[in-house]
Amino acid sequence: RRKKIVQECETLMDKPENIRNIAIAAHVDHGKTTLTDNLLAGAGMIADEGEATKLMMDTEEDEQERGITIDAANVSMTHEYEGTNHLINLIDTPGHVDFGGDVTRAMRAVDGALVVVDAVEGAMPQTETVLRQALREGVKPTLFINKVDRLISELQEGPEEMQERLLSVIHDVNELIRGMTKEMDDIEDWTVSVEEGTVGFGSALYKWGVSMPSMQRTGMDFGEIMELERADKRQELHERTPLSDVVLDMVCEHFPNPVDAQPRRVPRIWRGDADSELAEDMALVNEDGEVVFMVTDISMDPHAGEIATGRVFSGTLEKGQELYVSGTAGKNRLQSVGLFMGGEREEVERVPAGNIAAVTGLKDAIAGSTVSSVEMTPFESIEHISEPVITKSVEAQSMDDLPKLIETLQQVAKEDPTINIEINEDTGEHLISGQGELHLEVVTQRIERNQGIPVNTGEPIVVYREAPQTASREVEGISPNRHNRFYITVEPLDDDIVETIKRGEASMDMPELERREALQEAGLDKDTSQEVEHIHGSNIFIDDTKGIQHLNETMELVIEGLEEALNDGPLANEPVQGSLIRLHDARLHEDAIHRGPAQVIPAVRHAVHNALIDAEIRLLEPIQDVRIDVPNDHMGAASGEIQGRRGRVDDMYQEGDLMVVEGIAPVDEMIGFSSDIRSATEGRASWNTENAGFRVMADNLQPEKIMEIRERKGMKTELPEAVDYF
Ligand code: GDP
Repeated sequence: RRKKIVQECETLMDKPENIRNIAIAAHVDHGKTTLTDNLLAGAGMIADEGEATKLMMDTEEDEQERGITIDAANVSMTHEYEGTNHLINLIDTPGHVDFGGDVTRAMRAVDGALVVVDAVEGAMPQTETVLRQALREGVKPTLFINKVDRLISELQEGPEEMQERLLSVIHDVNELIRGMTKEMDDIEDWTVSVEEGTVGFGSALYKWGVSMPSMQRTGMDFGEIMELERADKRQELHERTPLSDVVLDMVCEHFPNPVDAQPRRVPRIWRGDADSELAEDMALVNEDGEVVFMVTDISMDPHAGEIATGRVFSGTLEKGQELYVSGTAGKNRLQSVGLFMGGEREEVERVPAGNIAAVTGLKDAIAGSTVSSVEMTPFESIEHISEPVITKSVEAQSMDDLPKLIETLQQVAKEDPTINIEINEDTGEHLISGQGELHLEVVTQRIERNQGIPVNTGEPIVVYREAPQTASREVEGISPNRHNRFYITVEPLDDDIVETIKRGEASMDMPELERREALQEAGLDKDTSQEVEHIHGSNIFIDDTKGIQHLNETMELVIEGLEEALNDGPLANEPVQGSLIRLHDARLHEDAIHRGPAQVIPAVRHAVHNALIDAEIRLLEPIQDVRIDVPNDHMGAASGEIQGRRGRVDDMYQEGDLMVVEGIAPVDEMIGFSSDIRSATEGRASWNTENAGFRVMADNLQPEKIMEIRERKGMKTELPEAVDYF
């Protein structure tokens, strides 16, 4: 049977019109796993649904234990729609906000996103996040409203009440879609509608589903469905209107195939020459063109080694090809080419354009790499919704494990670029940074369990930022030999500019003209935007000098000094953000020997630090949006948990039978929230956090926090000279 399916897939791979590349996106617990099981069983990939979960979603032990899905896995299946067989490549996306980077990467490989929303809970914060991630990548949404059985059997809602509730879910989702696509002029109306068949309803648990087209096909109306559900005749419902048919039909009918999608999606994610042959190959999904493969995920297979999964935009992948990997010097040789089926990789001869492939041999690739048969402009770096905000140290318990630990950490960083790894071979104490407490916990558990390396881990530590608050005076930086001088000022950048850079919309990788336009649009004045010499973090370096001898050949060292200054800010060696640094003038020694690294780097570093201090630099801390759903009688306890953490409650309102408390709190104070809220509400609260950027700490809290960080880092526990808070 499996062999037959593999053959079917291989035949379909060559017909891009019949391919759909999709993702399922949902708030945690809204039923993505259960729905995926249904689809796989419906497509005949597995004998019974329970198997699918084990096979596909929960390949990692920790995922099984936690009951949450972490890695973006991948599965191909076939489905017959209107007499034509279709190949559906489904990419799994993680269901927890802590893993936002994985979601975005998965979205890049697909053209459609099935958004699953729990009928009882409605659209939740993470529904919004995943929807935004999809739309930003130009991925078309459809909606499946799940757990409708609960409305009928559990909440005993009548037809009108139910209709009202379902319409309000659709309305909320459409409001989000409308708001997010307002300024995207390459996208037509992407709101969903029952009449058009872009909305389905049903129960993933009891395996039935319904949509406008399915009602027309089966002749069953909603009243009849309600009756059967209420009478507990769910098996009959499943037989007469199976969920997998309803959803897979919707996928085939309403999601674009690669031929329709690629001409629109490629310009969104690729900045190369739009008139080139390569651009045309990608737009036409040309399987005979040059190979262009975008890696969206790297995973480890104990037998095959490193597997790179991604989308073939052009050409055909074949074993033995020598391919360029973006960001690296040499080529890698493809050792095998395959597809994922039910979580297992099947080797095939070739995978042509328009498909999702899983290959081995790309030893230099990381998640996000562009792999190609000719040298090319790589795809835009994938936008990460949030930066790492929390760090933890890991250390092997036995020195013998050190090499293996380092190798594993490097592997983890390759697989998940939202994780930052800092390896310290001298102390053996390595640092991992990620999106939240849970994100890091999962990583360390993988090291311990999957690799069998016993480690000691430190307490989670929050990552801070430093940023100037006003414009500085001009500051002089003098080299140790006193022969080189740099004159520098610093001023704060507007938030819009900082956000634009953080979203990757203005970077040094893009053509100068485009970068200039993006910065001007965000509010940078025209003259300044034309003099951008370098962007580092979310800081901009401007060269305002004119005709200074030897400056060009010294610029590389100037930038090195600048980066050192920005990586380790003057307050507490935390990264500097949001500063505009201007080089106004410089004196350089005639002889290159007297303006080497040992002279230029410290001179620039000191000048930048002193200018930052003069610009009233302050410590910024990461904050999170917090949402708690809780029964009425625990509402006080829930809001108290936010307020007691230097937080602020912004809103409280009734939703269904629960109260919703919304607010914000610093990440630092949210450590340990999980267990505290559980005990404060007798386990009756469900909650969610999402990173909401960095905020300047109150002045009266600054000195203590700075000292605490300096002490932890073994720095002198006194503020740098000239830092003045009061
Ligand atoms: P995920 O986190 O989105 O993958 O959600 P799961 O598929 O793991 O489902 C979360 C919980 O909701 C599980 O206990 C499921 O059994 C339950 N569930 C999923 N779909 C339905 C449904 O249609 N009706 C009901 N009543 N429960 C469901």
